[in-house]
Amino acid sequence: MKATFMYGAGDVRVEDVDKPALVEPTDAIVRTVRTCICGSDLHPYHQMPASEQGAPMGHESIAVVEEVGSEVTEVKPGDFVIAPFAYADNTCEICRDGFQTACPHGGFHSTLQAEFARVPQVNGSLVVVPGVDPETASEELLASLLTLSDVYLTGHHAAHMADVKPGQSVAVVGDGAVGLSAVLAAKQLGAEQIILMGRHTDRTDLGREFGATDVVAERGDEGVAKVLELTGGHGVHVVLEAVGHMPAYVQSYEIIRPGGVISRVGVPQYEDAPVGFGSLFGKNARLAGGPAPVRAYLEDAIQQVLDGTINPGKVFDRTIGFDEVPAGYAAMDGREALKVMVDPAR
Ligand SMILES: [Zn+2]
Repeated sequence: MKATFMYGAGDVRVEDVDKPALVEPTDAIVRTVRTCICGSDLHPYHQMPASEQGAPMGHESIAVVEEVGSEVTEVKPGDFVIAPFAYADNTCEICRDGFQTACPHGGFHSTLQAEFARVPQVNGSLVVVPGVDPETASEELLASLLTLSDVYLTGHHAAHMADVKPGQSVAVVGDGAVGLSAVLAAKQLGAEQIILMGRHTDRTDLGREFGATDVVAERGDEGVAKVLELTGGHGVHVVLEAVGHMPAYVQSYEIIRPGGVISRVGVPQYEDAPVGFGSLFGKNARLAGGPAPVRAYLEDAIQQVLDGTINPGKVFDRTIGFDEVPAGYAAMDGREALKVMVDPAR
């Protein structure tokens, strides 16, 4: 089967490898219907030291179950499923609190950009999409379901952790697929003013379609001044930060209003950051966010996609086959593509 490996910064290869086999009785083997390249895959694409042994890639997938271990009860061969980017038992105390990404029996997928994959902890992880046949479903529906593996529900998690309420003002930092998803999620939760900070017009146009009321293309001090101007000088109730670099964090605490919440879902590329009087303390601002426990939100989100309430799949603007995956990484890295979907049948 074909599978994606990264051998170092800028070096992505698709190789023919053996199909995975069941290891634990709680495993399943799934056949990929669609997978995709994530903005977070671009971090190793920039930084990974060259290695002889490639690292398998991929954590987003919709798939058909091929084979299940003896203890799998929640899915059966033939089921069409969504795989959250983290697997979990979904029964322990941490999972019951809604933080499946921190399940002590769980982990993060890293082999899903492949034709087949082994999924651990299937009973707690894979969720069946009811009544949909992936062979006959529309591309639009498949695209939206695929976003529930990570990107849309990561945007939703940002808004959920910030407890976005009707009538509030929200700023979204970052116009990548997660940022645009955060716009859509904030709109669903009733935010009145949604300020999207981003400067790629094709992306911010989709942001407006998803519910952004204002777009601020400026960055740094100019961007901050613009947001303050749009909010009566007070700043926003909530910042959803979907970038992960320090300037985005600085921008976030500069535009948060006193008592507000900064919710981060861009994977921070730093460990140390200001939390003192001039950043969070002086404003009584709170910091929230982390890896999205997609599993906690999946049933509700599947229903919203199936009934047409949300159409988050619009973030995909390119579909490729496995042989084009290295070019797909380059296209996302070069901002020629917003988010790239992989269709194994191409
Ligand atoms: Zn757990």
